Amino acid sequence: MKKIKEVAGNNTSDLVEMNRSAIVRILQQMDVCSRADIAKMTGLTQASITKIVAVLIDMGIVTEVGFVKGEGNRRSIGLRLNAEKNLVIGVKFSRHVFSMGVFDICGKVYTQQETEFSLEDFATDVVADMKNQIHSLLDKYENVVAIGLAVPGPYLRKEGRIAMVTRMSSWQNVNFIDEFKNEFDKPLFIEQDANAGALAEWWFGNHGRPINSLAYFLAGEGVGSGIVDHDRLLLGNLGIASEIGHISIDVNGPTCECGNKGCLELYCSTTAMLKKAEKSLPELFERDFENRWEACNRVFEAAKEGNEKALKLTEEIAEYLGYGCVTLINAYDPEIIVIGDSISQGGDLLLPTINRIVKERILPDISKRVQIKISKLTVDPTLYGAAAIATDKVLRKPSEYLVSN
Ligand SMILES: [Zn+2]
Repeated sequence: MKKIKEVAGNNTSDLVEMNRSAIVRILQQMDVCSRADIAKMTGLTQASITKIVAVLIDMGIVTEVGFVKGEGNRRSIGLRLNAEKNLVIGVKFSRHVFSMGVFDICGKVYTQQETEFSLEDFATDVVADMKNQIHSLLDKYENVVAIGLAVPGPYLRKEGRIAMVTRMSSWQNVNFIDEFKNEFDKPLFIEQDANAGALAEWWFGNHGRPINSLAYFLAGEGVGSGIVDHDRLLLGNLGIASEIGHISIDVNGPTCECGNKGCLELYCSTTAMLKKAEKSLPELFERDFENRWEACNRVFEAAKEGNEKALKLTEEIAEYLGYGCVTLINAYDPEIIVIGDSISQGGDLLLPTINRIVKERILPDISKRVQIKISKLTVDPTLYGAAAIATDKVLRKPSEYLVSN
């Protein structure tokens, strides 16, 4: 008979692992802290903490480092996660480019690389190139404990397939699980890009703890969102929960590739923004642009310089982002919404309008408790998120995945 996940119980060994994971996750967020701090945050007794920490030190996962000041100026021994011994590889696959990097489980960047490809290239060749590059990184960095792969959504995570990727239909036949899962001698985990961004903000975003729930609003070539609610990524049945890019904001609007009409993505993606910009601001595109990030940035730069048409377009994009935030708040009740990807380069030009729309359309008791931010991550949130996918998994099962002496 099959184990039903929803009603599955916890054996003693599961509880031991859950407590180890709780401690490791606190250390990931706190950098250095004492056993007493951990006791306060977890509710575990000092005796339990002492026992669990001793095992984690023995396994090489945690190290003692000098002293930290505690209550009443008492000095306690500091504890730190042995991050440098636990590296992860993050791999981001997107429409025109794949990138990868080596990071540690606290988010430190070791190396990053990027490879462009065109939609005319054979998917099999691109996949082979990705695999070779991952193998090379594994040869070079021996402390890699897991690999995370972020792919565009909607990604059917049980099947391993992308259900629909705008303008790259040949990739629908690629099964990412079959291609990548058993290719390496390290565990590999796959999630869609917006979920990866949410995990990047959750693990590496430094939002100050404790946060109960966070929504990552991806506004780039695609539009989507990822939700971390009470420490867990919201997945849904197929793994496509929170696809806000395909929520209709005009039921009679233009037909989207997904079959729905008037999807949010048709109004505030880079494609939508650049289409409008090319019409109203042709002078900005007389020079070639390297990529969509740069093209969007030209519009925002012009707006900053006071160009009326660029300001109008930026305002329009911000309004649609505001409608997206309204949907996110009503559907998921997040504490923080972080807007990321190429459109977020608009930064402070966008936030006042987004906040105005939210204030107008959400009850004050609710809206005043939601903070809307622009991502401050210095690494591409989806690539960082790929590393966060792996980090999330290994921190939940430290005994299984983290370095053991
Ligand atoms: Zn759609």
